[in-house]
Amino acid sequence: MKVLYPGSFDPLTYGHLDLVQRASERFGDVIIAILDNPTKVPTFSIERRIQQINSSISNLQGIRVISYRGLTVQCAKKYKVDLILRGLRAMSDFEYELQIAHTNRTLDNSIETIFLATESHHSFLSSSVVKEVALFGGKVDHMVPPIVATDLYQINNKNK
Ligand code: ADP
Repeated sequence: MKVLYPGSFDPLTYGHLDLVQRASERFGDVIIAILDNPTKVPTFSIERRIQQINSSISNLQGIRVISYRGLTVQCAKKYKVDLILRGLRAMSDFEYELQIAHTNRTLDNSIETIFLATESHHSFLSSSVVKEVALFGGKVDHMVPPIVATDLYQINNKNK
């Protein structure tokens, strides 16, 4: 099976990575799809996010990263995936994720979304929390892969 895991990944965290690993063990191939969203100003460029992810998945099989514009269901069709994967951390994620999943079904009912619950020790992790901790000089090594920690350290030092 082939699974599309869409998101911002701005930047990738160990929460994302854990989901990718578990999905690949259970379903087979995983395509990490970075949404190139014109309405958001990202912290990291698409190119840098692709590099960060590639460096973090180099020891894993059957996983690749792409970027896309437009509708996730169109991306899912283009790459001929069987499922869209999203993660759930808390009830607050659930409402939002359910809304997107329903919307996607109305756009294309041939594509299913599946959800994996976060590992409990990653339930607090989000890209925005990581960026805030780094901004105020906190350690993020246990939250993100080494390349992301280095990048965060560098942009925060530049801004000082
Ligand atoms: P988006 O802007 O599309 O929400 P994110 O990169 O923030 O993009 O998240 C992509 C997906 O990964 C979402 O389904 C989100 O719920 C999930 N996710 C993010 N952090 C974690 C985590 N710590 N554990 C499990 N899933 C997560």
